[in-house]
Amino acid sequence: MSAQIIDGKAIAQQVRVELKARTDALKARGITPGLAVIIVGEDPASKIYVANKIKACAELGLHSEHIVMSADTPEATLLAKIDELNNDPKIHGFLVQLPVPKHIDSNKVLLAIDPDKDVDGFHPVNVGALATGNMRFAPCTPWGCMKLLEKSGVSIEGKHAVVVGRSNIVGKPMALLLLQANATVTICTSKTVDLAKFTRDADILVVATGRAKMITGDMVKPGAAVIDVGMNRDENGKLCGDVDFDAVKEVAGWITPVPGGVGPMTITMLVANTVQSAERTQGSGK
Ligand code: NDP
Repeated sequence: MSAQIIDGKAIAQQVRVELKARTDALKARGITPGLAVIIVGEDPASKIYVANKIKACAELGLHSEHIVMSADTPEATLLAKIDELNNDPKIHGFLVQLPVPKHIDSNKVLLAIDPDKDVDGFHPVNVGALATGNMRFAPCTPWGCMKLLEKSGVSIEGKHAVVVGRSNIVGKPMALLLLQANATVTICTSKTVDLAKFTRDADILVVATGRAKMITGDMVKPGAAVIDVGMNRDENGKLCGDVDFDAVKEVAGWITPVPGGVGPMTITMLVANTVQSAERTQGSGK
């Protein structure tokens, strides 16, 4: 039997309707949630990501600022801009789009951001909060994966969740969020021996490796929920995930497509974190 396709676009739209209502409620109290995105340099992919973030804010009525700095911007100038945003009451969250040019220390940049405005959830204070079960801002992509599971009615508690990949932006926070939701969690990496042994035992399988179609049909437990974070190009240059969608959809219970699965959720959760930050500043936070 074919899996239920988790429609990320439709779920993102549903979440955005909820966010618009929360934004309108804040605006009625005189607070417009504000997001700023700093981009340093001319990376074409980064430019597209940033443009999409600004567009999502505009659609939901948030205030947004797109700050473009040239590739040769000195580190001190960027840090001064961060300090300015840390103290700007119109801005409830901001991020510096990665990668930054080589002469800038990305770790220093990250540490300079006020954790209360770190809507990417990458500051060590927020990473620590997530690890200790006191989540403030969850990183947007794994948080979006949790929403996809929740909105699709996939139960997590007591289930075996296997996360393939351990990056700081996807794999590790994903595992922590699943653990927080009472799953039994296994993390697999490129060093895992007999990966299929673990993936075949997963009730929930989240894959974030950047290896096109590496999860094949025989690696998946019948009925499992499969979340594919990967964004790759196949041999024909077509966008594809880390999961062999056509084969796995015949085995899994639920599956996210690429494109149209996790991708649309990432930006939506960035807006969600910004709205939540604005709510916190006026004491109605949740
Ligand atoms: P990284 O390259 O930072 O991490 C990849 C992880 O996968 C590493 O932990 C690596 O293990 C592991 N890995 C690589 N090969 C294998 C293998 N053969 N078996 C098991 N594990 C393996 O990638 P990211 O986490 O940043 O991104 C992963 C994918 O998700 C990419 O395709 C990226 O484009 C996509 N992505 C999509 C987003 C979206 O919004 N849809 C957002 C962010 C990322 P090890 O640590 O041992 O090297």
